[in-house]
This record gives sequence, C-alpha cells and structure tokens, in this order.
Amino acid sequence: MPEGPSIVILREEVAAFTGKTIERAEGNSKLDKSRLVGQTVRSFRSWGKHFLIELDDVSLRIHLLLFGSYRINERKESAPRLSLGFPNGELNFYGCSVQFIEGPLDEAYDWRADVMSDAWDNRTTLRKLRKRPRLLACDALLDQTLFSGSGNIIKNEVLFRTRIHPLSLIGDLSAPKLRELTREVRTYSFEFLLWKREGTLKAHWLAHTKTTCPRCKIPFIRAKSLGRSKRRSFFCERCQKRYGDSDQVAV
Ligand SMILES: [Zn+2]
Repeated sequence: MPEGPSIVILREEVAAFTGKTIERAEGNSKLDKSRLVGQTVRSFRSWGKHFLIELDDVSLRIHLLLFGSYRINERKESAPRLSLGFPNGELNFYGCSVQFIEGPLDEAYDWRADVMSDAWDNRTTLRKLRKRPRLLACDALLDQTLFSGSGNIIKNEVLFRTRIHPLSLIGDLSAPKLRELTREVRTYSFEFLLWKREGTLKAHWLAHTKTTCPRCKIPFIRAKSLGRSKRRSFFCERCQKRYGDSDQVAV
C-alpha cells in the first residue's frame, strides 16, 4: 500500500495537469464521470494516503487501497477505474477507490494530522494520543486520525529507530518518549520521501522485512499479524523496550 510520501511523489508527477481542463473522463468507476468533463484542475493535494484533485465545483478523492496503481501518459492492459484526458496528456488509475468530495477540502480534512503537510502539528497528535492510553504503539502508528499517511513501513522503521516495542502501551511511554515517537514519524516520513525519489528506500530499511537486528546482531521477531491492526511487524526484543503490560489489554 502506498504510504503518505508516495502520494506526495504522485502529486509532483502530475503537476503538468494543474490548471488544465478535463476533456475526457472514462473508466469502470460508478461515479458520474460526465460531471468531470469541462472542469479545470485547481490543484492536486494529498491528505495521508488520499490523493485529492480539486476541481471547479467538486473534488475527487482517490485512495489506492492495497494494490492500486496509476499511469501517466501510458496505460496498463487492465481497465482503468478512472481515466482523465487533458489537452497535454492523460492520467489513469487502477484498482483504487474514487469518490466525490463536495465543498471545500479545508472543511473535509484536518491537515494537522497529515505527517507530510506543512500544517502538521505534533502537539495536536500528542493530545489525541494522551486520550488513548490503552492503544498499542503498533496500532497508533497505523491510525490515520493520528498519523495520516503513516503505513506499515513507517511503523516498523519508526518503532525500531525509537527503540519502542510494538506492543508497548501509549499511556506507559514517558512524555519525552511519546514526543520522540511522534517527531520521528514526521522525520522518517521525509527521509522516506527523499530515498523513494532516489530509488534507495529499501536499501535504507533497518527493520522492515529484515531478519537480523543491526544493533544487537540477533534475529528479529517477525510477526505476521500484530495488534488490532493485524499487520506484519519486524522488531527486536532486546533493544526495543516494551512499555507497560499490554497482555492485560484485549487485542
Ligand atoms: Zn536489537
């Protein structure tokens, strides 16, 4: 699943269509595509994993889900969910969810929760985290209302970097440790963006998909499904501290 930084890259890649008018809208999405024709792209935006196309009187929300993809000025064999034709090229989306958003995007989204946004606000997320002391660290980092754009790679890497065991309870982290965790999500997400642009993202993984802890040189625990979020986790039981007793929490 593409994480927030990958959607920022998509936004950059389609910049040539900003200000252009949609001449053709096709695809197997059930959306009323005729409404799109003749509308001009005011801006491309993103909120976490949502790719947003702001048009004259409506916006499109595209979510690539687990296996969605896109092509710019080229096509895949399979039928597109949505294909938009512009005077200077075309944009095709596959295997994604497409929805209209009525009204201003600033009313639909809280940009402060988007880890890639200029409006990101650590303090807002810290306040929300403090209200959920029984939340597991591995679930917190996948909760889009807390860290919009954070996905499984970001989760595994950030927990390793901050030496926090994925089954730690948020309420048992000290205030400085919780601050470190939220800050690192933002920091790592921008490193992710840089490395993804360079094509070196995987080479920089320290924990995600790895077998050995680079700090302790012992095998990582590789869990197929951890926490309520039930996602793959890679962690070290020696150097990642388990805060609180999450065995007492039903997961
Ligand atoms: Zn270790």
